[in-house]
Amino acid sequence: MEDSPALRREMVTVCRRLYERGLIAGPDGNISVRVGSNRILVTPSGMSKVDVEPDDLVEVTLQGERVAGYRAPSSEVNLHVRIYSRRPDVQAVVHAHPPVATGFALAGEGFEANLLPEVTVQLGRVPVVPYATPGTGALPDACEPYLDSHDAFLMANHGAVTTGPSLLLAHQRMESLEHAARIVLTARLLGTVNVLTPAQVAELMSARARTKVSGTHPEVLAREGQQGEE
Ligand SMILES: [Zn+2]
Repeated sequence: MEDSPALRREMVTVCRRLYERGLIAGPDGNISVRVGSNRILVTPSGMSKVDVEPDDLVEVTLQGERVAGYRAPSSEVNLHVRIYSRRPDVQAVVHAHPPVATGFALAGEGFEANLLPEVTVQLGRVPVVPYATPGTGALPDACEPYLDSHDAFLMANHGAVTTGPSLLLAHQRMESLEHAARIVLTARLLGTVNVLTPAQVAELMSARARTKVSGTHPEVLAREGQQGEE
């Protein structure tokens, strides 16, 4: 994807949707899109995302150097560039602090079980990355072991990250993650959480393959590993 007025408008729209849905508060969160082999467009540091305008977006290299824009890039730009460097298939990254999903991250609990079809198909397993100070080089280092095999992950005592082959899908994954967290919490309150059976999961994974959901998925990687061993 190339930097264009349409892309910048799409990014501004996603910033507002994250804010309006309560997935971020104040200056929380940041999003980016790949706009070349070595460049990304990322939200600026410090601004409430609801106030971000197309001209506020900042273009940086995968080495984190600003090449266009008059604002400082997000303090989490190092995490974004690490993801793009590690995952050539990723075209967009969304980081937010969705309250219920982040509550699970505080409890040290990811979404490892297969509970909801849309999570199994679109998000895969969602791990909790050990805590690292936001805005430092320690955060990308903590996330590194999870990047190859996950399109969504929680960061302990912090928030969530989703990735995708498009900004649309990365954003949908963030909304789905929070929605799933609410549903799982409700089931917990009611007292019973039924897990999908292996056969039900296998059927969902076939559907995932048919609809060509891109990105990585622990279930897919596990199967490819098994096939490779045969
Ligand atoms: Zn954050």
